[in-house]
Amino acid sequence: MPKFILIGSGLAGGLLAAYLGRRGYEVDLYERRSDPREGNMVGGRSINLALSTRGIHALEQIGIADEVLRHAIPMRGRMIHGKSGGLHFAPYDVDPNKHINSIGRAALNTTVIEAAQRYPNVHVKFNHKCTDVDLDSATAHLLNTSTTPVRLGPQPITASGDAVIGVDGAFSAVRQSMQLKIDNFQYDESYLAHGYKELTIPPGPDGSWKMEKEALHIWPRKSFMMIALPNPDGSFTCTLFWEFEGPRSFATTKTDDDIRRFFEEEFPDAVPLMPNLLDDFTNNPTGSLVTIRCVPWFYGAKVCLVGDAAHAVVPFYGQGMNAAFEDCVVLDQCLAEFPEDRQRAFAEYFQRRKVNADALADLALENFIEMRDKTASGAFRAKKKLDHFLEAALPGIYLPLYTMVTFTRIPYAQAARRARLQDRIVYAGLILAITSILASIALLFR
Ligand SMILES: Cc1cc2nc3c(=O)[nH]c(=O)nc-3n(C[C@H](O)[C@H](O)[C@H](O)COP(=O)(O)OP(=O)(O)OC[C@H]3O[C@@H](n4cnc5c(N)ncnc54)[C@H](O)[C@@H]3O)c2cc1C
Repeated sequence: MPKFILIGSGLAGGLLAAYLGRRGYEVDLYERRSDPREGNMVGGRSINLALSTRGIHALEQIGIADEVLRHAIPMRGRMIHGKSGGLHFAPYDVDPNKHINSIGRAALNTTVIEAAQRYPNVHVKFNHKCTDVDLDSATAHLLNTSTTPVRLGPQPITASGDAVIGVDGAFSAVRQSMQLKIDNFQYDESYLAHGYKELTIPPGPDGSWKMEKEALHIWPRKSFMMIALPNPDGSFTCTLFWEFEGPRSFATTKTDDDIRRFFEEEFPDAVPLMPNLLDDFTNNPTGSLVTIRCVPWFYGAKVCLVGDAAHAVVPFYGQGMNAAFEDCVVLDQCLAEFPEDRQRAFAEYFQRRKVNADALADLALENFIEMRDKTASGAFRAKKKLDHFLEAALPGIYLPLYTMVTFTRIPYAQAARRARLQDRIVYAGLILAITSILASIALLFR
Protein backbone atom coordinates (compact mmCIF):
# COMPACT_ATOMS: atom_id res chain seq x y z
CA MET A 1 0.00 0.00 0.00
CA PRO A 2 1.19 3.57 -0.65
CA LYS A 3 2.67 5.52 2.23
CA PHE A 4 1.48 9.01 3.19
CA ILE A 5 3.55 11.48 5.18
CA LEU A 6 1.12 13.81 6.98
CA ILE A 7 2.42 17.09 8.39
CA GLY A 8 0.35 18.45 11.29
CA SER A 9 -1.82 16.50 13.72
CA GLY A 10 -4.26 19.29 14.48
CA LEU A 11 -7.99 18.78 13.99
CA ALA A 12 -7.93 17.80 10.32
CA GLY A 13 -4.57 15.99 10.49
CA GLY A 14 -5.77 13.54 13.14
CA LEU A 15 -9.04 12.89 11.31
CA LEU A 16 -7.39 12.46 7.91
CA ALA A 17 -4.89 10.00 9.40
CA ALA A 18 -7.85 7.96 10.66
CA TYR A 19 -9.51 7.99 7.22
CA LEU A 20 -6.28 6.99 5.45
CA GLY A 21 -5.50 4.40 8.12
CA ARG A 22 -8.92 2.85 7.59
CA ARG A 23 -8.19 2.46 3.86
CA GLY A 24 -5.06 0.50 4.78
CA TYR A 25 -2.50 3.12 3.73
CA GLU A 26 0.73 3.44 5.66
CA VAL A 27 0.54 6.80 7.47
CA ASP A 28 3.33 8.62 9.28
CA LEU A 29 1.95 11.73 10.94
CA TYR A 30 4.41 14.39 12.17
CA GLU A 31 3.37 17.16 14.58
CA ARG A 32 5.61 20.00 15.73
CA ARG A 33 3.98 20.22 19.16
CA SER A 34 4.04 17.69 21.96
CA ASP A 35 1.22 15.20 22.48
CA PRO A 36 -2.09 17.04 23.25
CA ARG A 37 -2.64 14.48 26.03
CA GLU A 38 0.31 16.17 27.76
CA GLY A 39 -1.41 19.55 27.46
CA ASN A 40 0.24 21.17 24.43
CA MET A 41 -2.53 23.70 23.76
CA VAL A 42 -1.39 27.30 23.53
CA GLY A 43 -3.42 29.26 26.11
CA GLY A 44 -5.79 31.90 24.82
CA ARG A 45 -6.20 30.45 21.30
CA SER A 46 -9.71 29.27 20.35
CA ILE A 47 -10.16 26.91 23.26
CA ASN A 48 -13.60 25.91 22.09
CA LEU A 49 -15.26 25.71 18.70
CA ALA A 50 -18.71 25.34 17.20
CA LEU A 51 -19.16 21.93 15.60
CA SER A 52 -22.08 21.50 13.20
CA THR A 53 -23.59 19.13 10.65
CA ARG A 54 -20.66 18.92 8.18
CA GLY A 55 -18.12 18.24 10.92
CA ILE A 56 -20.42 15.78 12.69
CA HIS A 57 -20.94 13.89 9.42
CA ALA A 58 -17.17 13.56 8.95
CA LEU A 59 -16.76 12.26 12.51
CA GLU A 60 -19.71 9.86 12.06
CA GLN A 61 -18.08 8.30 9.00
CA ILE A 62 -15.13 7.25 11.16
CA GLY A 63 -17.35 6.26 14.10
CA ILE A 64 -16.37 8.91 16.66
CA ALA A 65 -19.22 11.44 16.49
CA ASP A 66 -20.96 10.10 19.61
CA GLU A 67 -17.72 10.13 21.55
CA VAL A 68 -17.11 13.78 20.59
CA LEU A 69 -20.70 14.92 21.15
CA ARG A 70 -20.73 13.39 24.63
CA HIS A 71 -18.49 16.29 25.69
CA ALA A 72 -20.35 18.95 23.68
CA ILE A 73 -22.78 21.61 24.86
CA PRO A 74 -25.66 22.34 22.49
CA MET A 75 -26.11 26.01 21.54
CA ARG A 76 -29.68 26.53 20.33
CA GLY A 77 -29.45 30.15 19.27
CA ARG A 78 -27.79 33.52 19.69
CA MET A 79 -28.21 35.37 22.98
CA ILE A 80 -27.77 39.04 22.12
CA HIS A 81 -26.52 41.28 24.93
CA GLY A 82 -27.48 44.96 24.53
CA LYS A 83 -25.31 47.72 25.95
CA SER A 84 -27.80 48.42 28.71
CA GLY A 85 -27.82 44.74 29.72
CA GLY A 86 -31.00 43.79 27.81
CA LEU A 87 -31.09 40.21 26.45
CA HIS A 88 -32.68 38.90 23.28
CA PHE A 89 -32.63 35.20 22.29
CA ALA A 90 -32.82 34.32 18.58
CA PRO A 91 -33.05 30.58 17.82
CA TYR A 92 -30.81 29.29 15.01
CA ASP A 93 -33.62 27.52 13.24
CA VAL A 94 -37.36 27.12 13.17
CA ASP A 95 -36.77 23.52 14.26
CA PRO A 96 -35.81 23.72 17.98
CA ASN A 97 -33.83 20.45 17.63
CA LYS A 98 -31.33 22.09 15.32
CA HIS A 99 -28.38 23.40 17.26
CA ILE A 100 -24.63 23.86 16.99
CA ASN A 101 -22.25 22.31 19.52
CA SER A 102 -19.59 23.92 21.67
CA ILE A 103 -16.64 21.56 21.94
CA GLY A 104 -13.18 21.87 23.46
CA ARG A 105 -10.33 21.93 20.94
CA ALA A 106 -7.98 19.87 23.14
CA ALA A 107 -10.50 17.07 23.76
CA LEU A 108 -11.47 16.94 20.10
CA ASN A 109 -7.86 16.89 18.99
CA THR A 110 -7.13 14.01 21.34
CA THR A 111 -10.19 12.08 20.11
CA VAL A 112 -9.22 12.33 16.43
CA ILE A 113 -5.60 11.36 17.13
CA GLU A 114 -6.72 8.37 19.20
CA ALA A 115 -9.11 7.37 16.39
CA ALA A 116 -6.13 7.40 14.00
CA GLN A 117 -3.93 5.43 16.40
CA ARG A 118 -6.45 2.59 16.48
CA TYR A 119 -5.07 1.62 13.06
CA PRO A 120 -1.71 -0.17 13.45
CA ASN A 121 -0.59 1.28 10.12
CA VAL A 122 -0.81 4.87 11.49
CA HIS A 123 2.23 6.20 13.38
CA VAL A 124 2.07 9.58 15.13
CA LYS A 125 5.31 11.40 15.94
CA PHE A 126 5.10 14.49 18.11
CA ASN A 127 7.81 17.15 18.51
CA HIS A 128 8.70 17.02 14.81
CA LYS A 129 8.64 20.32 12.99
CA CYS A 130 8.57 20.30 9.20
CA THR A 131 10.95 22.85 7.71
CA ASP A 132 10.75 22.05 4.02
CA VAL A 133 9.34 19.56 1.53
CA ASP A 134 11.08 18.19 -1.53
CA LEU A 135 8.07 18.02 -3.83
CA ASP A 136 9.35 15.63 -6.52
CA SER A 137 10.51 12.95 -4.11
CA ALA A 138 7.68 13.48 -1.56
CA THR A 139 10.23 13.96 1.19
CA ALA A 140 9.64 16.11 4.25
CA HIS A 141 12.59 17.64 6.09
CA LEU A 142 11.90 17.86 9.81
CA LEU A 143 13.55 18.85 13.05
CA ASN A 144 13.10 16.42 15.92
CA THR A 145 12.80 18.80 18.85
CA SER A 146 12.45 16.08 21.48
CA THR A 147 15.95 14.76 20.90
CA THR A 148 17.84 13.79 24.01
CA PRO A 149 20.38 14.68 25.23
CA VAL A 150 19.21 18.29 25.09
CA ARG A 151 22.72 19.62 24.40
CA LEU A 152 22.54 18.14 20.89
CA GLY A 153 19.59 20.43 20.07
CA PRO A 154 16.91 19.63 17.47
CA GLN A 155 18.03 16.85 15.14
CA PRO A 156 17.27 17.04 11.41
CA ILE A 157 15.53 14.01 9.92
CA THR A 158 13.84 13.23 6.61
CA ALA A 159 10.59 11.35 6.03
CA SER A 160 9.79 9.99 2.58
CA GLY A 161 6.63 8.44 1.25
CA ASP A 162 4.54 8.20 -1.89
CA ALA A 163 2.88 11.53 -1.02
CA VAL A 164 3.17 14.31 1.55
CA ILE A 165 -0.05 15.88 2.80
CA GLY A 166 0.12 19.31 4.43
CA VAL A 167 -2.44 19.48 7.21
CA ASP A 168 -0.32 22.01 9.03
CA GLY A 169 -2.72 24.90 9.37
CA ALA A 170 -2.89 28.48 8.17
CA PHE A 171 0.89 29.04 8.28
CA SER A 172 1.65 25.76 6.53
CA ALA A 173 5.29 24.85 5.88
CA VAL A 174 4.17 22.42 3.15
CA ARG A 175 2.29 25.20 1.33
CA GLN A 176 5.33 27.45 1.69
CA SER A 177 7.47 24.83 -0.07
CA MET A 178 4.90 24.66 -2.89
CA GLN A 179 4.93 28.45 -3.12
CA LEU A 180 8.71 28.53 -3.47
CA LYS A 181 9.00 25.67 -5.93
CA ILE A 182 5.91 25.67 -8.17
CA ASP A 183 5.89 28.16 -11.03
CA ASN A 184 2.67 30.15 -11.16
CA PHE A 185 1.59 29.04 -7.68
CA GLN A 186 -1.07 31.61 -6.77
CA TYR A 187 -1.18 32.75 -3.21
CA ASP A 188 -3.24 35.40 -1.49
CA GLU A 189 -3.40 36.18 2.22
CA SER A 190 -5.56 38.94 3.59
CA TYR A 191 -5.59 40.00 7.24
CA LEU A 192 -8.52 41.71 8.96
CA ALA A 193 -7.89 45.01 10.73
CA HIS A 194 -9.36 43.21 13.76
CA GLY A 195 -7.55 40.85 16.10
CA TYR A 196 -8.98 38.59 18.77
CA LYS A 197 -8.35 37.95 22.42
CA GLU A 198 -9.74 35.15 24.57
CA LEU A 199 -11.06 35.86 28.06
CA THR A 200 -12.85 33.71 30.62
CA ILE A 201 -16.08 33.73 32.58
CA PRO A 202 -15.35 31.13 35.28
CA PRO A 203 -18.06 28.82 36.68
CA GLY A 204 -20.21 29.89 39.61
CA PRO A 205 -19.24 28.62 43.11
CA ASP A 206 -21.44 25.53 42.65
CA GLY A 207 -19.90 24.81 39.23
CA SER A 208 -22.91 26.19 37.36
CA TRP A 209 -22.94 28.44 34.29
CA LYS A 210 -23.33 32.14 35.12
CA MET A 211 -25.27 32.86 31.89
CA GLU A 212 -27.70 30.87 29.75
CA LYS A 213 -25.76 27.68 29.07
CA GLU A 214 -27.25 26.54 25.76
CA ALA A 215 -26.58 29.65 23.70
CA LEU A 216 -23.83 31.40 21.80
CA HIS A 217 -23.64 34.79 23.50
CA ILE A 218 -22.96 37.87 21.38
CA TRP A 219 -22.30 41.45 22.44
CA PRO A 220 -22.62 43.23 19.06
CA ARG A 221 -21.11 46.73 19.12
CA LYS A 222 -21.18 47.76 15.43
CA SER A 223 -17.46 47.85 14.51
CA PHE A 224 -16.44 45.19 17.04
CA MET A 225 -17.99 42.46 19.22
CA MET A 226 -17.45 39.93 21.94
CA ILE A 227 -18.82 36.38 21.86
CA ALA A 228 -18.91 33.61 24.48
CA LEU A 229 -19.24 29.83 24.12
CA PRO A 230 -20.02 27.51 27.05
CA ASN A 231 -17.59 24.86 28.32
CA PRO A 232 -18.51 21.61 30.12
CA ASP A 233 -16.81 22.76 33.36
CA GLY A 234 -19.33 25.61 33.85
CA SER A 235 -17.10 28.31 32.36
CA PHE A 236 -17.49 30.34 29.18
CA THR A 237 -14.69 31.24 26.80
CA CYS A 238 -15.22 34.79 25.58
CA THR A 239 -13.55 36.14 22.46
CA LEU A 240 -13.22 39.86 21.88
CA PHE A 241 -12.88 40.77 18.19
CA TRP A 242 -11.56 44.31 18.10
CA GLU A 243 -9.52 46.66 15.93
CA PHE A 244 -5.72 46.31 16.35
CA GLU A 245 -5.21 50.06 15.79
CA GLY A 246 -7.27 53.21 16.19
CA PRO A 247 -8.37 55.63 18.90
CA ARG A 248 -10.15 52.80 20.78
CA SER A 249 -8.37 49.57 20.04
CA PHE A 250 -6.02 46.91 21.37
CA ALA A 251 -3.17 49.34 20.68
CA THR A 252 -4.54 52.08 22.92
CA THR A 253 -5.88 49.88 25.74
CA LYS A 254 -2.89 49.06 27.88
CA THR A 255 -3.39 49.98 31.53
CA ASP A 256 -5.76 48.32 34.00
CA ASP A 257 -7.84 51.52 34.01
CA ASP A 258 -8.10 51.53 30.19
CA ILE A 259 -9.22 47.91 30.17
CA ARG A 260 -11.72 48.33 33.00
CA ARG A 261 -13.19 51.51 31.47
CA PHE A 262 -13.61 49.92 28.03
CA PHE A 263 -15.34 46.82 29.39
CA GLU A 264 -17.58 48.77 31.76
CA GLU A 265 -18.70 51.02 28.91
CA GLU A 266 -19.24 48.28 26.34
CA PHE A 267 -20.00 45.04 28.20
CA PRO A 268 -21.32 46.16 31.61
CA ASP A 269 -23.28 42.94 32.23
CA ALA A 270 -20.21 40.77 31.55
CA VAL A 271 -17.74 42.61 33.80
CA PRO A 272 -19.07 41.25 37.15
CA LEU A 273 -18.79 37.73 35.69
CA MET A 274 -15.13 38.14 34.73
CA PRO A 275 -13.03 38.32 37.91
CA ASN A 276 -9.82 37.55 35.94
CA LEU A 277 -10.50 40.11 33.22
CA LEU A 278 -7.40 42.24 33.80
CA ASP A 279 -5.04 39.25 33.97
CA ASP A 280 -6.63 37.54 30.96
CA PHE A 281 -6.57 40.71 28.89
CA THR A 282 -2.97 41.50 29.76
CA ASN A 283 -1.53 38.00 29.52
CA ASN A 284 -3.45 36.31 26.70
CA PRO A 285 -2.08 36.84 23.21
CA THR A 286 -3.89 38.94 20.60
CA GLY A 287 -4.42 36.69 17.59
CA SER A 288 -4.74 37.79 13.98
CA LEU A 289 -7.49 36.77 11.56
CA VAL A 290 -6.47 35.72 8.08
CA THR A 291 -8.11 34.49 4.90
CA ILE A 292 -5.80 32.39 2.75
CA ARG A 293 -6.50 31.38 -0.84
CA CYS A 294 -4.10 29.49 -3.05
CA VAL A 295 -4.00 27.55 -6.33
CA PRO A 296 -3.28 24.67 -6.80
CA TRP A 297 -3.70 22.57 -3.67
CA PHE A 298 -1.64 19.70 -5.06
CA TYR A 299 1.56 18.89 -6.90
CA GLY A 300 1.18 15.90 -9.21
CA ALA A 301 0.66 12.72 -7.22
CA LYS A 302 3.20 13.84 -4.63
CA VAL A 303 1.85 16.66 -2.45
CA CYS A 304 -1.58 17.85 -1.34
CA LEU A 305 -2.98 20.45 1.07
CA VAL A 306 -5.97 19.93 3.40
CA GLY A 307 -7.83 22.18 5.87
CA ASP A 308 -6.50 25.59 6.87
CA ALA A 309 -3.27 24.90 4.99
CA ALA A 310 -5.30 25.14 1.77
CA HIS A 311 -7.98 27.64 2.77
CA ALA A 312 -7.89 29.41 6.14
CA VAL A 313 -11.04 31.49 6.70
CA VAL A 314 -12.02 34.00 9.38
CA PRO A 315 -14.03 32.30 12.16
CA PHE A 316 -17.34 34.18 11.91
CA TYR A 317 -19.40 31.38 10.38
CA GLY A 318 -17.95 28.80 12.79
CA GLN A 319 -17.05 26.66 9.77
CA GLY A 320 -13.23 26.50 9.42
CA MET A 321 -12.89 23.19 11.24
CA ASN A 322 -16.16 21.88 9.80
CA ALA A 323 -14.88 22.62 6.29
CA ALA A 324 -11.49 21.05 7.10
CA PHE A 325 -13.31 17.89 8.22
CA GLU A 326 -15.38 17.95 5.03
CA ASP A 327 -12.09 18.11 3.06
CA CYS A 328 -11.07 14.81 4.72
CA VAL A 329 -14.32 13.15 3.59
CA VAL A 330 -13.94 14.38 0.01
CA LEU A 331 -10.23 13.49 -0.25
CA ASP A 332 -11.00 10.01 1.09
CA GLN A 333 -13.78 9.64 -1.52
CA CYS A 334 -11.50 10.78 -4.33
CA LEU A 335 -8.73 8.36 -3.30
CA ALA A 336 -11.32 5.58 -3.31
CA GLU A 337 -12.66 6.60 -6.73
CA PHE A 338 -9.19 6.72 -8.32
CA PRO A 339 -7.15 4.14 -6.40
CA GLU A 340 -4.60 3.71 -9.21
CA ASP A 341 -4.25 7.38 -10.10
CA ARG A 342 -3.42 9.54 -7.11
CA GLN A 343 -2.78 12.64 -9.20
CA ARG A 344 -6.32 12.37 -10.57
CA ALA A 345 -7.63 11.86 -7.00
CA PHE A 346 -5.83 15.01 -5.79
CA ALA A 347 -7.02 16.97 -8.83
CA GLU A 348 -10.65 15.89 -8.30
CA TYR A 349 -10.46 16.75 -4.59
CA PHE A 350 -9.08 20.21 -5.45
CA GLN A 351 -11.74 20.77 -8.09
CA ARG A 352 -14.59 19.72 -5.77
CA ARG A 353 -13.38 21.72 -2.78
CA LYS A 354 -11.77 24.91 -4.11
CA VAL A 355 -14.98 26.59 -5.26
CA ASN A 356 -16.62 25.78 -1.93
CA ALA A 357 -13.65 26.99 0.12
CA ASP A 358 -13.76 30.29 -1.79
CA ALA A 359 -17.50 30.62 -1.17
CA LEU A 360 -17.01 29.91 2.54
CA ALA A 361 -14.25 32.53 2.76
CA ASP A 362 -16.68 35.16 1.42
CA LEU A 363 -19.55 33.99 3.64
CA ALA A 364 -17.33 34.12 6.73
CA LEU A 365 -16.24 37.69 6.00
CA GLU A 366 -19.85 38.78 5.41
CA ASN A 367 -20.98 37.12 8.62
CA PHE A 368 -18.59 39.28 10.66
CA ILE A 369 -20.64 42.32 9.69
CA GLU A 370 -23.87 40.45 10.42
CA MET A 371 -22.70 39.33 13.89
CA ARG A 372 -21.05 42.51 15.11
CA ASP A 373 -23.57 44.99 13.68
CA LYS A 374 -26.80 43.59 12.26
CA THR A 375 -27.73 41.13 15.04
CA ALA A 376 -28.55 44.16 17.22
CA SER A 377 -30.99 45.64 14.71
CA GLY A 378 -34.78 45.23 14.45
CA ALA A 379 -34.51 44.75 10.67
CA PHE A 380 -32.18 41.77 11.18
CA ARG A 381 -34.57 40.17 13.67
CA ALA A 382 -37.50 40.75 11.30
CA LYS A 383 -35.55 39.10 8.45
CA LYS A 384 -34.75 36.08 10.69
CA LYS A 385 -38.44 35.77 11.60
CA LEU A 386 -39.40 35.95 7.92
CA ASP A 387 -36.75 33.31 7.14
CA HIS A 388 -38.17 30.99 9.79
CA PHE A 389 -41.74 31.64 8.64
CA LEU A 390 -40.88 30.82 5.02
CA GLU A 391 -38.85 27.77 6.06
CA ALA A 392 -41.86 26.43 7.98
CA ALA A 393 -44.36 27.38 5.25
CA LEU A 394 -42.26 26.00 2.38
CA PRO A 395 -40.46 22.98 3.86
CA GLY A 396 -37.59 21.77 1.69
CA ILE A 397 -38.15 24.65 -0.75
CA TYR A 398 -37.02 27.67 1.26
CA LEU A 399 -33.89 27.23 3.36
CA PRO A 400 -32.26 30.21 5.08
CA LEU A 401 -28.55 30.65 4.30
CA TYR A 402 -27.49 30.00 7.91
CA THR A 403 -29.50 26.76 7.91
CA MET A 404 -27.93 25.57 4.65
CA VAL A 405 -24.39 26.35 5.81
CA THR A 406 -24.75 25.00 9.33
CA PHE A 407 -27.39 22.29 9.29
CA THR A 408 -26.99 20.72 5.84
CA ARG A 409 -24.15 19.45 3.68
CA ILE A 410 -25.25 21.45 0.63
CA PRO A 411 -21.92 22.60 -0.87
CA TYR A 412 -21.06 26.12 0.35
CA ALA A 413 -21.02 27.64 -3.16
CA GLN A 414 -24.43 26.16 -3.96
CA ALA A 415 -25.84 27.39 -0.63
CA ALA A 416 -24.60 30.92 -1.31
CA ARG A 417 -26.11 30.93 -4.84
CA ARG A 418 -29.42 29.53 -3.63
CA ALA A 419 -29.65 32.09 -0.82
CA ARG A 420 -29.06 34.96 -3.26
CA LEU A 421 -31.82 33.65 -5.53
CA GLN A 422 -34.21 33.15 -2.59
CA ASP A 423 -33.54 36.70 -1.38
CA ARG A 424 -34.26 38.12 -4.82
CA ILE A 425 -37.56 36.22 -5.02
CA VAL A 426 -38.58 37.23 -1.48
CA TYR A 427 -37.77 40.92 -2.06
CA ALA A 428 -39.61 40.86 -5.40
CA GLY A 429 -42.59 39.23 -3.64
CA LEU A 430 -42.52 41.84 -0.88
CA ILE A 431 -42.41 44.71 -3.37
CA LEU A 432 -45.30 43.12 -5.29
CA ALA A 433 -47.32 42.68 -2.07
CA ILE A 434 -46.67 46.28 -0.94
CA THR A 435 -47.51 47.61 -4.39
CA SER A 436 -50.83 45.69 -4.48
CA ILE A 437 -51.75 46.88 -0.95
CA LEU A 438 -51.01 50.48 -1.92
CA ALA A 439 -53.01 50.05 -5.16
CA SER A 440 -55.99 48.64 -3.20
CA ILE A 441 -55.84 51.55 -0.73
CA ALA A 442 -55.70 54.01 -3.64
CA LEU A 443 -58.77 52.34 -5.19
CA LEU A 444 -60.69 52.65 -1.89
CA PHE A 445 -60.11 56.40 -1.77
CA ARG A 446 -61.02 57.08 -5.43
C1 LIG B 1 -10.65 32.38 17.16
C2 LIG B 1 -11.03 31.23 16.29
C3 LIG B 1 -12.25 30.60 16.46
C4 LIG B 1 -12.62 29.55 15.64
N1 LIG B 1 -13.85 28.99 15.82
C5 LIG B 1 -14.24 28.00 15.00
C6 LIG B 1 -15.53 27.40 15.17
O1 LIG B 1 -16.30 27.77 16.07
N2 LIG B 1 -15.90 26.40 14.31
C7 LIG B 1 -15.07 25.99 13.30
O2 LIG B 1 -15.48 25.08 12.54
N3 LIG B 1 -13.85 26.52 13.13
C8 LIG B 1 -13.41 27.52 13.95
N4 LIG B 1 -12.17 28.05 13.80
C9 LIG B 1 -11.30 27.56 12.70
C10 LIG B 1 -10.54 26.30 13.11
O3 LIG B 1 -9.76 26.55 14.25
C11 LIG B 1 -9.65 25.85 11.96
O4 LIG B 1 -10.32 25.90 10.74
C12 LIG B 1 -9.17 24.41 12.21
O5 LIG B 1 -8.38 24.37 13.36
C13 LIG B 1 -8.38 23.93 11.00
O6 LIG B 1 -7.85 22.66 11.29
P1 LIG B 1 -6.45 22.23 10.64
O7 LIG B 1 -6.18 20.86 11.13
O8 LIG B 1 -6.46 22.50 9.17
O9 LIG B 1 -5.40 23.25 11.26
P2 LIG B 1 -4.94 23.36 12.78
O10 LIG B 1 -6.02 22.96 13.68
O11 LIG B 1 -4.34 24.72 12.91
O12 LIG B 1 -3.78 22.28 12.91
C14 LIG B 1 -2.54 22.42 12.29
C15 LIG B 1 -1.54 21.54 13.04
O13 LIG B 1 -0.30 21.53 12.32
C16 LIG B 1 0.76 21.70 13.25
N5 LIG B 1 1.85 22.33 12.52
C17 LIG B 1 1.91 23.59 12.05
N6 LIG B 1 3.08 23.80 11.42
C18 LIG B 1 3.77 22.64 11.49
C19 LIG B 1 5.05 22.23 11.01
N7 LIG B 1 5.85 23.08 10.36
N8 LIG B 1 5.45 20.97 11.25
C20 LIG B 1 4.65 20.10 11.92
N9 LIG B 1 3.43 20.44 12.41
C21 LIG B 1 2.99 21.69 12.18
C22 LIG B 1 0.17 22.61 14.33
O14 LIG B 1 0.91 22.53 15.54
C23 LIG B 1 -1.24 22.05 14.45
O15 LIG B 1 -1.31 21.00 15.37
C24 LIG B 1 -11.75 29.10 14.62
C25 LIG B 1 -10.52 29.72 14.43
C26 LIG B 1 -10.15 30.77 15.27
C27 LIG B 1 -8.81 31.43 15.05
